[in-house]
Amino acid sequence: MKAVVYNGPRDIAVANIPDPRIERPTDALVRIMATNICGSDLHMYEGRTDVEPGKVLGHEPLGEIVEIGAAVTRLEPGDIVCMPFNISCGFCSNCERGYTGFCVTVNPGYAGGAYGYAGMGPYDGGQAEYLRVPFADFNCLKLPEDALEKIDDYVMLADIFPTGYHATELADVRPGESVAVFGAGPVGLMAAYSALIRGASQVMLVDRHADRLALAEGLGAIPIDDSKAPPVEQIMALTRGRGVDKGCECVGYHAHDPRGREHPSATLNALVGAVRPTGAIGVVGVFMSEDPHSSNKLAKHGHVDFDIGLFFEKGLRMGSGQTNVKVYNRWLCELIRRDRAKPSFIISHRLPLEDAPHAYRHFDAREDGWTKVVLRPAA
Ligand code: NAD
Ligand code: ZN
Repeated sequence: MKAVVYNGPRDIAVANIPDPRIERPTDALVRIMATNICGSDLHMYEGRTDVEPGKVLGHEPLGEIVEIGAAVTRLEPGDIVCMPFNISCGFCSNCERGYTGFCVTVNPGYAGGAYGYAGMGPYDGGQAEYLRVPFADFNCLKLPEDALEKIDDYVMLADIFPTGYHATELADVRPGESVAVFGAGPVGLMAAYSALIRGASQVMLVDRHADRLALAEGLGAIPIDDSKAPPVEQIMALTRGRGVDKGCECVGYHAHDPRGREHPSATLNALVGAVRPTGAIGVVGVFMSEDPHSSNKLAKHGHVDFDIGLFFEKGLRMGSGQTNVKVYNRWLCELIRRDRAKPSFIISHRLPLEDAPHAYRHFDAREDGWTKVVLRPAA
């Protein structure tokens, strides 16, 4: 089959590799129909992780079941399914409590497994013609009858729609509240969208890319261009000096100033400054425990200079981590099915799998107009 293979920093190729096969009776094989490139893929693409050459990338897959293992009971060939980017067993102590992003079965020695991802276990990714799905009964979300018609919406259930939603859940966003989201990439846009779905009365989205800020405005969020004035000042002005009720961090360790200099704590500290006393912050942007290629001395060891004093004085709360996609995907799927949500509005490019190297290059450069790429292997 054809698959997107990581060769080294900024070097990926569409290669011919052996087809995956059923390895355990609980596996299913899926023929991929749509598979997104994620901001998280860029951590590997940019050489910021220790992912091994030869790894198939991709963790946002949707497709058709073509084969099931002997122990799979609720799926059959022909079902159209979307897989959470996390791989989880469904029966460990974390999965039982809904922390499927922290499964302790699928990646021994670590809490959490995923397709095609550094440090997340020996699983190949879904930017390929076929994907092996472990614990398929648990991991496959069977899509409704309009699966193919709304394929561009449903494929966002693999990661970024639940992840944006998770940011608002960690921040405990409630009806009527004001929310500031840092980062207007796909994840930040989905966080702003989710905040509006949850009934927020005022949602601000901070970034400096005009095309991404325009999408935010189209949603009914207030775009904040942090290259014009410090974002905390702009947020304070919009809330009459009170600050926002809740904040979402959707950038991560590669937060930088508008001129491109990396400051891994910039968004965290801006949120501590912008959220009102006793508010809450949800952090879904990725921070790493080791980042040897960072130019920042602290960040090399996964540390940042964090405004803990102000955070404490304000009595703020903060939640973080990988999204437990399984907790949300069935319900967000219902919003799509009933035309209450249309997350495909962020898609800028629909391309064949062969175009992956070209797409990674443009998306990595955050070039104007490259917000979200869907690859269509079966097209
Ligand atoms: P992206 O890189 O396309 O978007 C990031 C955006 O942040 C860019 O538009 C950039 O201009 C902006 N930005 C950079 N520095 C900023 C600053 N100081 N202030 C405001 N905006 C700033 O990526 P994405 O796909 O939207 O993903 C965002 C983050 O979410 C990444 O770290 C990704 O790995 C992470 N992620 C986490 C999960 C999870 O489960 N927690 C899942 C998916 C993605
Ligand atoms: Zn992703």
